[in-house]
Amino acid sequence: MRPISNVIFYIYVMRIVDQDFEVFIDKETIKKRVEEMAAQINADYQELNPLFLSILNGAFVFTADLFRQITIPAEISFIKLKSYRKMESSGKVKELLGLEHNIFNRNIIIVEDIVDTGKTLSHILEEFGELGAKSIEILTMLHKPEASLKPISLKYVGFRIPNKFVVGYGLDYDGYGRNLPDLYKIVE
Ligand code: 5GP
Repeated sequence: MRPISNVIFYIYVMRIVDQDFEVFIDKETIKKRVEEMAAQINADYQELNPLFLSILNGAFVFTADLFRQITIPAEISFIKLKSYRKMESSGKVKELLGLEHNIFNRNIIIVEDIVDTGKTLSHILEEFGELGAKSIEILTMLHKPEASLKPISLKYVGFRIPNKFVVGYGLDYDGYGRNLPDLYKIVE
């Protein structure tokens, strides 16, 4: 007979492509935290008509859950940072796609799935620098403080997590796992 610990291990470990992942934050805990964050935003932005800008792809699940809990007047749009290599130079170029709203004089809430090094956000904040927003705040479901390379002020953070690769609840590993309702972390 197999020891009970192996059975538990078997139930909780999920293989995605070529890596094993275990449940890290379950869907009930995520749901509760999303509700708390939305309540905080409803209170903070009551008269401010915020424009949520959600960063694709990873933030789409979190954004959908959070935005349905927003009860004040608010707009939403989706943006994407496309990374490509320029033929004439060795450096990577990042282009911001999908910003169709005029953000001048608007109260912007950028919605991220995870802030790791902070490079993505610092690039986006640079792009927004000259567009005249009234305020820009960051809302992220996850933050890995130990991985931070760029100092960025994060107003709303769902969970602070260790510097481990996570998947699920919108986040992928090699394109897979975004549909998992819980958040998983890599088994090392
Ligand atoms: P940063 O620019 O802050 O280093 O990274 C932000 C982006 O990297 C996130 O939007 C996400 O796409 C990706 N990322 C960073 N850490 C993880 C992780 O643990 N899991 C997954 N799936 N993506 C991550």
